[in-house]
Amino acid sequence: MTRAIRFSDKRKFREQKLAGSFFIDPPNGEPTNFFYFCPCGCGVQSALKIGVKFKPAENPSWEWNGLSFEPSLLPSVNHVGHWHGWLKNGDWVSV
Ligand SMILES: [Zn+2]
Repeated sequence: MTRAIRFSDKRKFREQKLAGSFFIDPPNGEPTNFFYFCPCGCGVQSALKIGVKFKPAENPSWEWNGLSFEPSLLPSVNHVGHWHGWLKNGDWVSV
């Protein structure tokens, strides 16, 4: 299990490459982008299209619960053939 840490500083986010950390840009966009480093620790950064408490019409997209310290995403996050799991209440949990 990996804890999801939110960064507000894009430069530090990119420098630290912390497994499971995330950065939301723009911070108040509707929908917006959820950038994150793979929870497995491989250092790969990916981005998801998210809505705050709603799932955007675009596909694929995810619903974020809007919480910085206890973030959850629906549905599950799948790097095909690499990592698949859930971000639930601030923890990345692989299936
Ligand atoms: Zn990985």
